[in-house]
Amino acid sequence: MAIRRRGTDWARDAGRLFDRTADSLHRDPLDYDYDGRAPHWREHFPPTPKAKCVPAWVSDPNARRATIGNRWAQSLIEPIPGWSPADAYQDLDGWFTSHVNAWLKTNKPSRGRFPNEPATNIDGLPIPDWMDHDKILDRLRLHYYRQHDALTAAHRTANKTRTPAHIIGTSPKTAITANYFVVHDTAGTNEYVDADAVHKGVHLWISPISLAQDRDWSASAVATKIENRTNNLHFIHVELIRHVAASGPAAANNYPNPGISTERDANTLFTRQQYEDLAHAYIVNSLRRGRFLTVTVHKEVDRNIANGHNDPEHFDMAYFYQLISAKLLLPADTTFGIEPTRAARNNLAGELNMFIDYVKGDVGCVNQYGAIGSKPGGGNYTVPIQDAAGNDVVPAGGDGTWVRGYVPPPPAPAPAPGAP
Ligand SMILES: [Zn+2]
Repeated sequence: MAIRRRGTDWARDAGRLFDRTADSLHRDPLDYDYDGRAPHWREHFPPTPKAKCVPAWVSDPNARRATIGNRWAQSLIEPIPGWSPADAYQDLDGWFTSHVNAWLKTNKPSRGRFPNEPATNIDGLPIPDWMDHDKILDRLRLHYYRQHDALTAAHRTANKTRTPAHIIGTSPKTAITANYFVVHDTAGTNEYVDADAVHKGVHLWISPISLAQDRDWSASAVATKIENRTNNLHFIHVELIRHVAASGPAAANNYPNPGISTERDANTLFTRQQYEDLAHAYIVNSLRRGRFLTVTVHKEVDRNIANGHNDPEHFDMAYFYQLISAKLLLPADTTFGIEPTRAARNNLAGELNMFIDYVKGDVGCVNQYGAIGSKPGGGNYTVPIQDAAGNDVVPAGGDGTWVRGYVPPPPAPAPAPGAP
């Protein structure tokens, strides 16, 4: 059942009132303009033993039988006007158990899974057909136009912004080539506005109120030590700014205007709205990649590097994954990368860092699951990463070719006509 064909274009039409680009009509990564660069996802997830990596629950349609019910309202999947809610839920339930499981069976990961990787991980899989690229982006456009409108006059004067371009990007028709979605936190509570984000090496900064952007998602960013002196297109970088400096009781929403919320749970330093912004950023990047990116955290990328970072702290990865799943009508326990328990633990001396091997091009993807090994020979890693001859090792990005030495940055993407 092609559910997305039966809706109206209300969201898209409304979106066009504001933004005439209406994005690409394609969601197949092969349709994107890669400037002659082939997608290199195969390199990231090499097609090794298939039998090892079939999640057990994929073969059991009843195991994930679930009522979508109120998940419908939380999702970014377009509602179907003209159906009674009961009809919609009934039809969706049938579709959910058959279509989603059929999709998972057909598209099950073909990589050799790591022994401790959870079977619920779907990063790397192509975007399913019930996730309409254009309509999801249009709904996000509406959401952020409304949120930007809802800012107080004082916050506008302070240059705080929450525009669609912050989440969708300034060049939404340009494909991205990243494999990893890296979550950071600044360890501070000072809000960032656009002027604070210039040339910091990070794509997006998510404060409790303001969003700050330095570059489109397709542009190279460098925000970790292993990327020093490189032109790295493999990592998307998003910084969170803390709502409170230290753990404490939950906070209620006290924002004066409706549509924006400062509500925060007790176990974390970031508001629910910040998790939502981050989930939207992840979804946009995955849509523009044509695949679900692999989530990781800065502390994992910096593991056992001299003066390595330990962020983000008090970040609830399990809640983040649940939020993405709810927005995309995926099974509620779907995961998209690093284990939540591993994301929560600290970056300690002596540990093994597989991102070093990834940046060198020695491995296609990084083991972020189970016990952390020890670095062979002990000690810590030093940066920049160099080969035996002392040349910087540079991850090239887009074309899947790993090279050594300086790689000039790619040409800036052409601005989309009419883009905000
Ligand atoms: Zn960081």
